[in-house]
Amino acid sequence: MFSWLKTKRRERALTAYALPDDEWRAALRELPFLNHYAPEALERLRDLTTLFLVEKSIVSGATSGVHALEVTAHMRIMIGVQACLLILGRGSTVAEAMRDYDGWENVVVYPGDFPRTYDFEDEAGVVHRLDEPIAGESWEGGPVLLSWPAVEAGYDETGMALVIHEFAHKIDMLDGAVNGLPPLPVNARAAFRGAIDAAFADFCQSVDRNLDTAIDPYAAESIDEFFAVTCEVFFAEPELLLLEYPAYFVQVKSYFRVDPIAGDLQLDPSI
Ligand SMILES: [Zn+2]
Repeated sequence: MFSWLKTKRRERALTAYALPDDEWRAALRELPFLNHYAPEALERLRDLTTLFLVEKSIVSGATSGVHALEVTAHMRIMIGVQACLLILGRGSTVAEAMRDYDGWENVVVYPGDFPRTYDFEDEAGVVHRLDEPIAGESWEGGPVLLSWPAVEAGYDETGMALVIHEFAHKIDMLDGAVNGLPPLPVNARAAFRGAIDAAFADFCQSVDRNLDTAIDPYAAESIDEFFAVTCEVFFAEPELLLLEYPAYFVQVKSYFRVDPIAGDLQLDPSI
């Protein structure tokens, strides 16, 4: 019942809060990797972005002091559209696709890298507290944190896109485990696991041998970072991922149900 009401509410929000044409076009102009997308794919992306902006609060992480940041309507759209790219092919309706982002509410935008405090235990069992500046972070069941300059740095076609990266972590967390696997039907899990494990092993070997990798070497950090970084590449520079890891590319494409090279949706009702 709750889910039915939510779907109805989402359908009403689509018309009540539709994004103005000029704002939508201005956002698309800044993201060249969306230039070639088919009109129906962009229409769906626009609807998802509308719902995303209705349902999520995109707020400033610094509202006072010299670094105060005002989060503008344009910034909100830029974040929303890239976040929604990851759910563009999900669900039979956009209301259903939005369920992938249920369970949390805030995106916090900072004027620059922000400190993350974390504890780690060394080999002797001593716990240390460290502060390290980071550009983005996703919390399970909680907010997504983003540095605005790092978001803006991802508008080109270099295959680096912080918003896609952080929301890929959200997708990874959907099945309750942070392991580089999106929430897949049981019969698709082994193929995805096999492809990502093989690609990750190959990539780590290249990084260990100090080779100059075309994909950001940060991807060798862990399997979940590999998933997040390769999601950036999948959407922002898809030809590169296809060239480097064709078998893994096919798995990622089949999960997202989007062909980022053709720029169209691959909606197959059987998936
Ligand atoms: Zn990450």
